[in-house]
Amino acid sequence: MRLIKEISQMKDYRKKIKAPQTVGLVPTMGALHQGHLSLIRKARQQCDKVVISIFVNPTQFGRGDDYQRYPRNLSEDIKLSEKEGVDVVFTPPTEEMYPQGYSTFVQVEGPLSSALEGASRPGHFRGVTTVLTKLFNMINPDYSYLGEKDYQQALLAKKLVEELNLDTQIIILPTVREKDGVALSSRNFYLNREERRAATVLHEALKRAELWVKEGERNPFSVVSRVKDLVRKEPLAKVDYVAVVNPETLEKVEDIKGEVLVLLAVSIGSTRLIDNMRIGHK
Ligand code: AMP
Repeated sequence: MRLIKEISQMKDYRKKIKAPQTVGLVPTMGALHQGHLSLIRKARQQCDKVVISIFVNPTQFGRGDDYQRYPRNLSEDIKLSEKEGVDVVFTPPTEEMYPQGYSTFVQVEGPLSSALEGASRPGHFRGVTTVLTKLFNMINPDYSYLGEKDYQQALLAKKLVEELNLDTQIIILPTVREKDGVALSSRNFYLNREERRAATVLHEALKRAELWVKEGERNPFSVVSRVKDLVRKEPLAKVDYVAVVNPETLEKVEDIKGEVLVLLAVSIGSTRLIDNMRIGHK
């Protein structure tokens, strides 16, 4: 396995891999967990070369966000990557990604980027789509693996690739959860024991929503308010948003027929967590 830091070296490595050999990219911010590993494993199955990028991207953090304290654990990440048979761990330095005077940003416009996470975290997706575009240009991956856990981000990545005619195929993989249903996330490292217990409320609320719909609930507004009520019963939890949307467009639905997506963002203490689940029938 190679550890590459310089962008020019990454590009040189890529140029030496010729079709029909394929390259898979797993973009991450590190502090790897089983969710990341599920993406790496899929890439390993499908591609000749697997590159994982580890870069805590400052442009996707807002003021007051957790950029400074975001968990960083490169030596452990390298060990895990090696175990999974990764070919390259790419860790570009921030000064190389965004040198002094950096000024080019890529933004998907419209509700897909301005609603939900986009509304709660202004500028977040601009940072995400900018860094993804940069990584795609450096690594030129045939396939790029993203998690459904960050559902809106994954849809935006698809849109970005489609509309900028980029040559990578976005593969979206299911959310990996702990036994108690909590979605794995690097931010779970922030939670103390009490908060970790309280974090189960996100998945519990989604499962309840699923049950209500199974039992015949068809009103999305009622699902939203029932989910909020349920989350509010947990004293450590503070709801940011709950939404019932069309899984393809993320537009709010007026009634629940067919498959819908329920998304929620909840702070547990000072840690903001997100989760989502598809419910109803296709
Ligand atoms: P991050 O390091 O948080 O930026 O995540 C890197 C990639 O891993 C993103 O595509 C995430 O959606 C994905 N990911 C994070 N958590 C999970 C999870 N629990 N299950 C599946 N994929 C995940």
